[in-house]
Amino acid sequence: MKTDTNHTQIAPPARGFSPGFAALGLEAKLLAALDALGYEEPTPIQREAIPPLLAGQDLLGQAATGTGKTAAFTLPLLQRITQLARRPHPSALILVPTRELAIQVAEAVNRYGKELRIAVLPIYGGQAIGPQLHTLKRGVDVVVATPGRALDHIRRNTLQLKHVQIVVLDEADEMLDMGFADDLDAILEQTPGERQTALFSATMPPRIAAIAHRHLKDPVEVTIARETVRAGTAPRVRQTAYVVPRPHKVAALGRVLDMASPTSALVFCRTRLEVDELTEMLKGRGSRAEAIHGGMTQVQRDRVMKAFRSGKTDLLVATDVAARGLDIPHVSHVINFDVPSAPEAYVHRIGRTGRAGREGAAITIVEPREQRLLRNIEQLTKSKIDVANVPSVADLKVKRLELTRASVQDALAAGELDLFQVVVESLAEKHDPRDVAAAAIKLVYQANGEGRAEAEIPTASARREDASEMSRRHAPHSMDRARDAKTGERSGSPYGRTGRSASPSTMTKLHIAAGRAAGIRPGDLVGAIANEAGLDSRVLGAIEMTDKFSLVEVPEEMADGIIDALSRTRIKGHKVAVRVYRQ
Ligand code: AMP
Repeated sequence: MKTDTNHTQIAPPARGFSPGFAALGLEAKLLAALDALGYEEPTPIQREAIPPLLAGQDLLGQAATGTGKTAAFTLPLLQRITQLARRPHPSALILVPTRELAIQVAEAVNRYGKELRIAVLPIYGGQAIGPQLHTLKRGVDVVVATPGRALDHIRRNTLQLKHVQIVVLDEADEMLDMGFADDLDAILEQTPGERQTALFSATMPPRIAAIAHRHLKDPVEVTIARETVRAGTAPRVRQTAYVVPRPHKVAALGRVLDMASPTSALVFCRTRLEVDELTEMLKGRGSRAEAIHGGMTQVQRDRVMKAFRSGKTDLLVATDVAARGLDIPHVSHVINFDVPSAPEAYVHRIGRTGRAGREGAAITIVEPREQRLLRNIEQLTKSKIDVANVPSVADLKVKRLELTRASVQDALAAGELDLFQVVVESLAEKHDPRDVAAAAIKLVYQANGEGRAEAEIPTASARREDASEMSRRHAPHSMDRARDAKTGERSGSPYGRTGRSASPSTMTKLHIAAGRAAGIRPGDLVGAIANEAGLDSRVLGAIEMTDKFSLVEVPEEMADGIIDALSRTRIKGHKVAVRVYRQ
């Protein structure tokens, strides 16, 4: 959906299913689900992989996390299993390397398949086996499993694969790295020979080719983003990336904006929903932000663009589709809330800054799993993206002190201080004039910082690949342990801890009955807990927020005290119910 730049064209339909997805042959219920999620157009891997998969062909796809590959195989899988005759046992099996991915993919199947009433079950180690057995017995359409646990169930005869019609091997290179090659062969042996098989892998070394050769029939091969971005189109702006665990991305965006304090910036995200949510969040913390996406009418978009051009708005939060074709003035910062799914999109996004020799900065917030995508972009654009730590609370303090000094200096330069000299003189009778000045500067500083309680944002800097490479080189047995921890296949806990891991305490989760919809940010929760319960915010663990509620990891022994303290206070003006969260 392009907008013209002279604003005379008739508005495109405000809403309607994405023509891009419809052209791939997806049915109305799936299109409706994508529309509800705010997806505006298919990513390259989706454009290439969906039609052959819908046609029932096998597929060998090279795509990393963040390219939209999950939807690329889930959407056709859902459409096909509803079209094929329903069978009692799972019709589809998706094998993934880790429990986190099993949970994520199962969530994706649920999300895209909402309207199709598809039952999905993630199975992975560490989870109690009882509920898995119960659900398997009742019958599920799609099983998403780590190989070890799938094999466990097959051996116990609790997972029957003889009716499976579609198998997906996701992140196959990772599964092989973790030593699952034999398990994969054993599992696939249990499935019918006439099944459809798709294999996705971020890399295509010979051992992947070998496994593809063994298990795929005449696969369509899809490789995305091989060609280098055209010479001369590569960006020449300062490029920085912050690797941040997913639950802390919003806080990281806030911190980045606080540090940059841009007067004209574009914030890009993938979906319309994200655009709306982030815009609300940014407005809630006092930024002059406006949303622009394909779900808006031309009139709405014109209004937003006018405000941005005239400087009334500092931040424009946009999807790629909305920004394409827009006549956007030069901006000082482009901030990517996600790594774009294709390098071309990255180049296009950051081309909005650093134009005609002007200063420009491109900042990308990256989830740990998306680091490979970042490296692809570096390779293809032949440019360097610095991976840095998210600015700390101390960095922010330094920055605010700098701003304070600059504004005091401006005030000195502007003069007209007579009225205030009187006050200074009367205060100086009792106090050292330096103390008087420091106190006044403190007030300016506090006014600049808006009195926000700030929390440290964890940076996930260790690259996963490097970590597993190290364990392979230095400790032959640690690979198994690393694998068990990732798949959960021997560990006791179903969820890995994210966020800080400094505290040795056992952590428990608190459920707070308010979330993003109430304008609450992770920083507000940390601030409220730290202030009200009088504890060091560093003892807190991961924070997860949805629109309606929030989950905060706290040391078990402090849970009662925190519940008590929060029940006596308000968070962002809201009285909230807090309880221990039981999964
Ligand atoms: P994946 O590469 O499958 O891990 O997907 C990365 C992220 O992109 C997920 O959060 C998806 O919800 C999102 N996503 C996938 N396809 C699209 C699309 N066509 N438009 C916008 N977001 C998408």
